[in-house]
Amino acid sequence: MIHPPMYSAEVLSQLRSLNWLTEEFRRVPADSAEGWHLRTQMRAVRARLPNAILTHHDRLAAEGRVSAAQVGDGNCGGCGLKLPKTLRAELAPAGCFGICPHCGVFLWSAESSAARPAHR
Ligand SMILES: [Zn+2]
Repeated sequence: MIHPPMYSAEVLSQLRSLNWLTEEFRRVPADSAEGWHLRTQMRAVRARLPNAILTHHDRLAAEGRVSAAQVGDGNCGGCGLKLPKTLRAELAPAGCFGICPHCGVFLWSAESSAARPAHR
């Protein structure tokens, strides 16, 4: 079971990587060299994520959805619905993430680390 909100800048960063790789993987032929390369990267990222988070990610990915979205202006970046004030406050510190009560994606609001240079 997942008990949000959670704090882990590392998990959040891996989750974002996994979403990016999943999107890329959909774009390339599965049996291409690039597809093979992406699959290898996905395996490496998945090995660093807790099972509960992977299960949640896979369920959303099976529906063709991303599993993580950034909060923008108090709204969920996934479904666009307004988030409860309490949840927004809980997500405010960098590295904290929770789950959207409307659509179920993992949410974060602050950049995971201001000290680290941004990477995709
Ligand atoms: Zn949502």
